[in-house]
Amino acid sequence: MKTIGILGGGQLARMIALAGAPLGVRFLVVDNVADACAGQVAPQITADWRDFAALQDFAKRIDVATFDFENVPADTAHWLAEHVAVFPNPRALATTQDRLVEKTLFRELGLATPAFAAVDSRDDLERALGTIGTPAVLKTRRLGYDGKGQFRIKSPADIDAAWAALGGAALILEAWVPFEREVSLVAVRGRDGAFSTYPLVQNWHEDGILSATLAPAPESDTLIEPAARHARAIAEHLDYVGTFALELFVKDGQLLGNEMAPRVHNSGHWTIEGAPCSQFENHVRAVLGLPLGDTSVLGTAVMLNFIGELPDALPVLAEPRAHWHDYGKSPRAGRKVGHATLCANTKAEMRERLARVARALGREEQVVQVLKAL
Ligand code: AMP
Repeated sequence: MKTIGILGGGQLARMIALAGAPLGVRFLVVDNVADACAGQVAPQITADWRDFAALQDFAKRIDVATFDFENVPADTAHWLAEHVAVFPNPRALATTQDRLVEKTLFRELGLATPAFAAVDSRDDLERALGTIGTPAVLKTRRLGYDGKGQFRIKSPADIDAAWAALGGAALILEAWVPFEREVSLVAVRGRDGAFSTYPLVQNWHEDGILSATLAPAPESDTLIEPAARHARAIAEHLDYVGTFALELFVKDGQLLGNEMAPRVHNSGHWTIEGAPCSQFENHVRAVLGLPLGDTSVLGTAVMLNFIGELPDALPVLAEPRAHWHDYGKSPRAGRKVGHATLCANTKAEMRERLARVARALGREEQVVQVLKAL
């Protein structure tokens, strides 16, 4: 029996552990919070990721290490890789931790991106705005997720406020893209180089946080091939092993790379019930060197995220082919506390199911755009 160690004990680690259990896999999570939500379903070491004595104990007790969070310190990833097999590898992690390095790689490998420039000083910012223009968005290169560490610059008059908010950190300025829609591709690469993608999905965000996902993305026949080609090229370049997500904008019918998440991803949660083999099980299979599972979509699926607090579970539990996920976290503004996935054989059936559930939850607004896209 193998044991997978996971750095980070959030809902992603929890869902990885739940998916690996039927394969006879054990898990051990490390998190500095005593009641981490993955600790409710797997043994936990409560320690900081820079506590090398705790990491020594962790490394001894596991066969493979992986992550549920991309911002694990580089030192920790490198130290671990010297003691145990680590997937994805520290180089892949480091590349995706820095928005500038990541976007530069996308371009080198032929994936177009929004116009961008490195910003290390106020002068740089003024120069970059001169070339990129407004609207633009200033982002920290590192440690940003869910729209954190970002400042929208609508006109040059916003420079002072943007610099006051983020100046001092290493930054990147990006053109603000008036995209038609946001899509993502969840993909998985095995230790033997086997590669597979889930269907392209469409995503809607609220305040920079994922709100809803529709699988498969409508009218994506012409996008899936280039998206999969780009994902594969990036994964092969990084010698990536495990599940990852490529987040993309669609502008004038073309794909632009926004970012890569080096882990299982919120836009892949629907795969638990909507695909024959979930992104979580495939991550487990990949890091253990097992054959990858089927990544097709069974009909159509919609995932609704619950941020801050959970609604009443009963309307979801009462609906056929609707699935409730409570992460076991206490409510807090901006925190992902759970999700629901609805599955259906046809779009018509999904429209009815989604409208009924949203009404019962009092969340009609969250699904307006999804219903339009269906
Ligand atoms: P990120 O953390 O970079 O994925 O940004 C969070 C969300 O902000 C994205 O999913 C988009 O909805 C939006 N966003 C980020 N960067 C841009 C951009 N350059 N143009 C338009 N929207 C953006």
